Parts: sequence; C-alpha cells; structure tokens
Amino acid sequence: MSSKVPPIVLNNGVEMPQLGFGVWQVPDDEAERAVATALEAGYRSIDTAAIYGNEEGTGRAVAASGIPREEVFVTTKLWNSDQGYDSALRAFDTSLGKLGLEYVDLYLIHWPTPARGKFVDTYKALEKLHAEGRVRAIGVSNFLPEHLEHLIAEASVIPAVNQIELHPHLQQHAAREYHAEQGIATEAWSPLGQGKGLLEVPAIVAIGQKHNRTPAQVVLRWHLQLGNIVIPKSVTPSRIRENIEVFDFSLDTEDLAAISALNEDRRLGPDPATFDVA
Ligand code: NAD
Repeated sequence: MSSKVPPIVLNNGVEMPQLGFGVWQVPDDEAERAVATALEAGYRSIDTAAIYGNEEGTGRAVAASGIPREEVFVTTKLWNSDQGYDSALRAFDTSLGKLGLEYVDLYLIHWPTPARGKFVDTYKALEKLHAEGRVRAIGVSNFLPEHLEHLIAEASVIPAVNQIELHPHLQQHAAREYHAEQGIATEAWSPLGQGKGLLEVPAIVAIGQKHNRTPAQVVLRWHLQLGNIVIPKSVTPSRIRENIEVFDFSLDTEDLAAISALNEDRRLGPDPATFDVA
C-alpha cells in the first residue's frame, strides 16, 4: 500500500511525512512486529532512538518490508551520555550499524541537558554528518527556545526539527511560535498524551461522535491541522491502522477552538531545563 500521508517540507527541502510511527518503550522484537504492521498500514516514517534499545528491530522491519529505502523516513536520536563532538560521531556509527542503514533521514539530539554544556559541540558533529550526506536532516528534541537561541547563535545549519512533548493538555504556544519564526518544524511527541485521560475528555469524545471518529483520531487530526508533525505509538494492530486513518476528514473551527480550550500547560514527561539521565 502506498503512503496516504502528506509531507512537511523541512527547511533544507527534505520532505518528511507529517505522520509517523513512534516506538518508545517497545522492546526490540515487538518493535520489529509493530514497525512491520505500521509499514503495511501505510506509515512511511519511523521514530526510534538509541536509548529505546530497538534500533535493530526497527531496521530489520524496514529491510524486510521490501519498501525502497528512499521511501521510508527513519529518525533516530543521540542519547545524553553520548553528548560531545567525538562521542556523538561514534554514537551515530553505532546507531547506523544497529539500524543496518547507510544513512538516516533525521538525527536528533535527544535532550539538551544544559548543565553538561555540550549541546553545541554535539550539534557540530551532527553538522559534519549532514555535510557528509550520512544524515539528510539534523535537529533537536526537547530544546526550549532559550536552548535553541544559544544553539542557533553558534550553528551553521538551523535545526530542521524540534521534537517536543505536545498534546491538547500541553499546547506549547510559545515554542511553536518561536519554531515558526526560525523555520524549524515542530514535531509532537506523546501526541495522544500517552493515551491516558486525554482520550476520555468529554469535549474530545463529543467531537469524535460528531465526525464518527475515535478520540485518538480527533487528537491526531487537531495536530495535523495545526501543522505539527506527529508520531503516535501503539503496538495494537487495529490502533496502528486507526491512527493513520486521519486524512479523510476535517475538524471545523468550532472543534479546533474546543480542543484549544483544553490547554493546561501540563507536562507528562520531564522538564527539559533539568532532565539529565545518563
Ligand atoms: P502517545 O501519545 O503516542 O500515546 C501512546 C499510547 O496511547 C499507547 O501506548 C496506547 O496506550 C495509547 N493509544 C495509541 N493509539 C491509541 C488509540 N488509537 N486508541 C486508544 N489508545 C491509543 O505516546 P508516546 O509513545 O509517549 O509518544 C509517541 C512517540 O513519541 C514515542 O513512541 C516516541 O517515538 C516519541 N517520544 C519522544 C520523546 C522524546 O524525548 N523525544 C519522549 C517520548 C516519546
């Protein structure tokens, strides 16, 4: 099946599917099965990370799919303990080896860990990998606008993407605005709010009933209409398929306003200013 997902054009002209598949907390073997199901369902973008421990399973599923390499967009991320110029280059080689690929489409610094003071050096290694053509686009994750300002002042390549926690309970208005000014695409992690209370919020359930869609589809559609890149995760085949069936309906202005009213500036994950697990 060919992809039904439209692309976002990144600031270096590279096209990234606006909806992809995330594999956080999915063990390697299960990730292989889930990624295979996702590719079969039409996903063409996969989001993994060195720390997830499933780059190998992800790579096996991509290889086994028979889909031409250039049609699948693979993202991985550099872990905190690998920050620094030389260690970042080594970490990239390790990730590439585990994925079994010749290049990755997007390589991200997973967390800024500002107390380490190394994200600029780390990013310079990513710039080198980009210049060598081993990474098609480079970016960051969990960077606050203050970290981006610092980085951009020293970098030659503006990050293509900042992947941040973003869902109706944490709408990230200031970050999204700053990204738009800088030409950085906003990618939403935990786009479904990790599937917890968010999918039971009455306003979201009601919008779903109105459109004959599930709450998860409503939330994903809200992200897409805002222009966010999304990477929902599921290991359940029916949900994997459900989460990509979001390109044949639209939320109206009233629906969008009702979801925008749900913002609580509430994080599920850690604070990027202080998070620093090695
Ligand atoms: P998510 O918001 O995608 O929610 C996933 C959970 O929602 C599932 O485990 C399941 O319980 C539920 N769910 C999924 N589809 C559903 C459906 N159709 N109906 C009902 N429930 C459903 O959460 P996530 O996995 O935290 O985030 C998605 C991806 O973002 C991750 O897999 C990972 O790739 C990425 N991520 C990145 C970072 C980072 O620091 N950069 C952090 C967390 C996650």
